[in-house]
Amino acid sequence: MSLAPTEPGPPPWRLLLGYVAPHRWSLLTGALLSLLTGATGLLLPLVARELIDDLAHDRTITGALLLMSVLVVANASVGALGSYVLRRTAESVVLGARKALSSYLLRLRIPAVDRSEPGDLMARITSDTTLLREVTTDSLVGLGTGGLTLVATVVMMGLVDPVLLAVTLAVVLGAGTVLGVIVPRINQASRRAQDAVGVMGASLERVLGALRTVKASGAEHREELTLHTAAEDSWRQSVRAAKWSAAAGNTAGLAMQSAFITVLAVGGARVATGVIDIGTLVAFLLYVFYLMAPIQQVVGAITQYQTGAAALTRIQEALRLPAEERAPAAPLPEESAEPAAVAFHDVRFRYADDLPYVHHGVSFAVPPRGMTAFVGPSGAGKTTVFSLIERFYDPESGVITLDGRDVAEWELPRLRSAIGYVEQDAPVLSGSLRDNLLLGNPDTDEAALARVLKTTRLDGLVARLPAGLDTLVGHRGTRLSGGERQRVAIARALLRRPRLLLLDEATSQLDAVNEAALRDTVADVARATTVLVVAHRLSTVTMADRIVVMDAGRVRAVGTHRELVAADPLYAELAATQFLATAG
Ligand code: ADP
Ligand code: MG
Repeated sequence: MSLAPTEPGPPPWRLLLGYVAPHRWSLLTGALLSLLTGATGLLLPLVARELIDDLAHDRTITGALLLMSVLVVANASVGALGSYVLRRTAESVVLGARKALSSYLLRLRIPAVDRSEPGDLMARITSDTTLLREVTTDSLVGLGTGGLTLVATVVMMGLVDPVLLAVTLAVVLGAGTVLGVIVPRINQASRRAQDAVGVMGASLERVLGALRTVKASGAEHREELTLHTAAEDSWRQSVRAAKWSAAAGNTAGLAMQSAFITVLAVGGARVATGVIDIGTLVAFLLYVFYLMAPIQQVVGAITQYQTGAAALTRIQEALRLPAEERAPAAPLPEESAEPAAVAFHDVRFRYADDLPYVHHGVSFAVPPRGMTAFVGPSGAGKTTVFSLIERFYDPESGVITLDGRDVAEWELPRLRSAIGYVEQDAPVLSGSLRDNLLLGNPDTDEAALARVLKTTRLDGLVARLPAGLDTLVGHRGTRLSGGERQRVAIARALLRRPRLLLLDEATSQLDAVNEAALRDTVADVARATTVLVVAHRLSTVTMADRIVVMDAGRVRAVGTHRELVAADPLYAELAATQFLATAG
């Protein structure tokens, strides 16, 4: 999947160098150790020749043997050390990219999250970053050491016979042109293969996130097909990449063999006409052979880089999604523990430019302390009110204030630390009950925890569970009932000791007894905190200090239950259908 960046970013190699830069010295050390291994290897034949020479002339071979053993041991140890240092450096590059990406994704703006697939983002952090390992070792180091050897060999060839060098280079450049056509195809196929992995991650996330619904709907077979199609797409593209990589490797091999034959022909003619002697031709041909390995290495580095570049581009796309600005736009006000005041001033908002407005000029004011309820048909824009207070989204026009201060001017972490928010579906994270309760305030002491467990009526549940607070709740809290999840979410919000408590249909799944108890708890909290509640059950809101009636993105009326029953037909109708017209 493409995250469709607005404009092209810097080339992938710049991003790669950015990740490699902190490790440049260990990378250089690893590369030098590899070169050293090659050099000690090259010395061995010389010593072997010496040894055979000694034997032939009846001399003692102890010296040569000793030297040979030292070289063998040195070659092995330097080689092992070199590959360890390189691999370790490459893993550090992967680590750096993973850390940078995960930090960044946690700071993404919610609209960017709305538009992306979590499974695809996950694939970018886990699978695409893994590819950086090979890019670092094979591409960077391969290009470095291979390139160095290549240059050295070409210089030697030039010294032996410049004419034959020109002949060789002409053949090699011809092959280079062919490679120029092949290499972009490797990149393209790799990009598609990685994208298919992203699609697979997204489908997996979709299915595993709702496996019960998939099973209940009997949709396993269709979902299986989707997953298999993504896996096969990745396979097809990887096979294409393999095909082009193989073609690239063999083009290089073919070029070298052609160069050999050409040099043999041209060189033979030059020997025949007496321009060069036969020794020069033999030496030059040997160099053509020597050229083979570094050229293969450089071509390998380039093809490997194409795979890595595709991954780098995908990483870069994720890093260019809009993230939250966390620094304050203006000097911070004094930290306060007082209940907050909230107001909307003519707020217009839509979720995206191509979507209809959800708020058409919403205004209301909530003083510190007390309970304010938001009611209205579903889709009226109630949840959106809370999202805007949390600054998950910014309004198109109008101002939202907390303590009289535009929320856009608040430092985000501080704004959010003032608020306890229980979302509409009361999300619970996998982990233990305790993890969930202390998510927003890890330093809570046991006494405060016990108090909140009691007021949210979770104490009974905790006592019943064999592992108590350490019970694991499962993915998204599936091992809890809906009502239990809601109470956990409320307790979590209360433990933050918020100055503003936002409850979005937070008691919708509770039974009557628990709901009544929670209503008393919330009324208690509202004496010292500003509480905003969204509720579709009017029984929850009749005792609110004020009720804001919303409809189709507008505030219809504000008043107490009694006032609204008399003054607002929509509210009166809601109340009537819930048999509450005369209560309150
Ligand atoms: P309520 O809570 O009053 O039922 P919401 O504030 O949740 O209503 O939603 C108001 C409108 O905004 C609905 O029509 C809904 O489809 C739309 N909406 C809500 N969330 C999003 C979103 N993340 N992206 C696009 N549209 C959304
Ligand atoms: Mg809602």
